[in-house]
Amino acid sequence: MGGLKPGDPSVAGSALPVLRQRGQREVFCGLTGIVWLHRKIQDAFFLVVGSRTCAHLLQSAAGVMLFAEPRFATAIIEERDLAGMADANEELDRVVDRLLARRPDIRMLFLVGSCPSEVIKLDLSRAASRLTAKHGPAVRVLNYSGSGIETTFTQGEDACLAALVPELPATQAAAPESTPELMIVGSLPDIVEDQFLRFFAEMGIGPVRVLPPRRAVALPPVGPNTRFLLAQPFLGETARALEDRGAVRLDALFPFGSEGSFEWLRAAARAFGVDEARFEAVVAPARERATRALARHRGVLEGKTIFFMPDSQLEVPLARFLSRELGMIPLEVGTPYLHRAHLARELEALPEGTTLSEGQDVDRQLDRVRAARPDLTVCGLGLANPLEAEGLSTKWSIELVFSPVHGFDQAGDLAELFARPLRRRDMLKV
Ligand code: SF4
Repeated sequence: MGGLKPGDPSVAGSALPVLRQRGQREVFCGLTGIVWLHRKIQDAFFLVVGSRTCAHLLQSAAGVMLFAEPRFATAIIEERDLAGMADANEELDRVVDRLLARRPDIRMLFLVGSCPSEVIKLDLSRAASRLTAKHGPAVRVLNYSGSGIETTFTQGEDACLAALVPELPATQAAAPESTPELMIVGSLPDIVEDQFLRFFAEMGIGPVRVLPPRRAVALPPVGPNTRFLLAQPFLGETARALEDRGAVRLDALFPFGSEGSFEWLRAAARAFGVDEARFEAVVAPARERATRALARHRGVLEGKTIFFMPDSQLEVPLARFLSRELGMIPLEVGTPYLHRAHLARELEALPEGTTLSEGQDVDRQLDRVRAARPDLTVCGLGLANPLEAEGLSTKWSIELVFSPVHGFDQAGDLAELFARPLRRRDMLKV
């Protein structure tokens, strides 16, 4: 298998019409990203400026992962703040003073906006500047929005990383022709990140930077000699901010499945002048392991239809992976936002006949699910139970974001996430 080839009869997706929907959405808000971001950037703290609803969302989403010293919290906006009866800025400053006095380990503090902070027009960017002046340089205070008015589920990470980009130091070599440096962009579980770093080291590519870094005190440098690979398909703002700093995006499939991982690594290998034979030799054992792992799930998944509700923004690359490597038939691939440039190669690889939809009008989309009766529907938690009650098998999309699914060695686990509900359905039928 050599990846996508021009003229491949299945390469038809780029011409697919897009159904644009602007109705009611059924998606988690961007605060959800804190659940994985706080584990990734280990000396950062996320302070949501929000309501009790926001606090409940975070606690229920991350409840199973609470630390003795948690790295996120909610500064509750009370009714009197909402009624304009108190100075929310003064209260926020007091909360931050108390937090930083009690937690000297915090090096970076994110003020995370929410629906209520937006409703009262609390200017968190001014608050971040004011608090940086007060607590810097020991602590940097940044801000971004996780509000459900503005963001969906995975966009919180995009907003967070985009807020980090202006803070990155400049690379030593400022000219575009200087020695290129590679940057992986998007938070990955450490184990997956380490696998990718090992591949690049074996290919002789270095230095390799990672955004977000594991420690906020070690921000990766960026400049015109930076070549970056997006590890996640939902990082449009972050990519734009990096490009504003002169960095150049390497176009590639996203590293889901064997083919995606191969193409993603190969994009870097080619950009860094790695000899094709050396590249093949480095990835061959892992690629073989992935092929074997995928073969175990093909029997369950091949020929089965799948419908993606728009949720995580991973939908298009996952549909490509499931159709090309496991023989599934994507009926509709919904995504909250369709970034045509970043997804160009993914779209080309979707099979003909796939309906592509952007945004949501949940009732109409549910009607389409009921009419199509797919073998598997990938959707948010709120929609899964009602669909199961109607006899439809579902997969929670949030699980795809919380599980290690990138790279060759996770390809089998990724396939298993889709195969499991189908196996369970078959067992219940017996
Ligand atoms: S930010 Fe908005 S959507 Fe998210 S939990 Fe808070 S109130 Fe709800």
